[in-house]
Amino acid sequence: MKQNVLQNIVKPLLEWYDKNARILPWRDNPSPYRVWISEVMLQQTRVDTVIPYFERFLYELPTVKALAEVDDEKLLKLWEGLGYYSRARNLKKAAQQIMRDYNGVFPSDVSELLKLSGVGSYTAGAVASIAFGVKAPAIDGNVLRVITRITAFDGDITEREIKSQIKKWVEAILPEGKAGQFNQSLMELGAIVCIPNGVPKCDECPVRNDCSGHHMGIAEQFPIKEKKAPRKIENKTVFVIVSDDKVALRQRPPKGLLSGLWELPNTDRNLSDNECNTVLNNFHLDVMNITPLKNAKHIFTHIEWHMKGYLIEAKPEPDCGFNWAGLTDLTNKYTLPSAFKMYIEAFNIYLTKRSINQL
Ligand code: SF4
Repeated sequence: MKQNVLQNIVKPLLEWYDKNARILPWRDNPSPYRVWISEVMLQQTRVDTVIPYFERFLYELPTVKALAEVDDEKLLKLWEGLGYYSRARNLKKAAQQIMRDYNGVFPSDVSELLKLSGVGSYTAGAVASIAFGVKAPAIDGNVLRVITRITAFDGDITEREIKSQIKKWVEAILPEGKAGQFNQSLMELGAIVCIPNGVPKCDECPVRNDCSGHHMGIAEQFPIKEKKAPRKIENKTVFVIVSDDKVALRQRPPKGLLSGLWELPNTDRNLSDNECNTVLNNFHLDVMNITPLKNAKHIFTHIEWHMKGYLIEAKPEPDCGFNWAGLTDLTNKYTLPSAFKMYIEAFNIYLTKRSINQL
């Protein structure tokens, strides 16, 4: 059986990890809280991006208790730019569960960790093994790639049974007392040697002697994934409405995509010039000038926003319901999704040009 070869990778992989593990801020003190926060931040996000977020988050919220008690605005501000904001909300809910149900003490058992909000099989395995030394597998995309390449296993990794099969293989080889290090060594190999979307660096790989994918010259074919459904395209018209040195914001609904975050006013389709005028009238604005902006695109997991934008110079009428934010408010107070980054930049450029013209 191809998976029998996996027993051979344990020793060389642990030795390689010992010498080659990257120095990362969550690795020098792998407390359950630090491991948990880092693992949640690292989902869908690159290590380089996560490092400053992790350090700021731990500085502001150093304990489970501090996270359980943080107000939502501050939490979202700490998360701003990482995306997938439900992850941040689930962290707070889970912290509240730990305070309420576990007397503030992080559970070490996988089955208890799985009861925490937002904690799935991967995160539970990572926290249990890395922070507590429990013999639990932690199967993320990196691990799936490494294992399917080593075994040249052609099961579709999007299928639950295939994932669970691979999980059992890894579970069977977890070394006593070193489960956390072994899990991390597999993830690390996948992150820096057996890389995705490119040619794996087999010449640098400590397990190449036992890698079927490498020997057969077909490593890049793995893992097998069924074709994803194409993303849904949503067209939008975004308004950068400025009055004096402030920009208009409104809050998104409490449920759904980017729920509760602040946004630039926008509509759910591309509008003609006439339709824009109607919308602006409905916003209760006294419009003085309209300037078209460049189109922008933002990609979410299943949706793409294709946006056209306008810079609107206007005076709000008394019944205009927007919040008005200056640059400092945008930095310190309001959390906006990065989808609007280019149009916030347009506001910034507008302010710079205006202050030059006033000199
Ligand atoms: Fe990946 Fe190549 Fe190492 Fe196999 S030998 S695990 S394909 S890097």
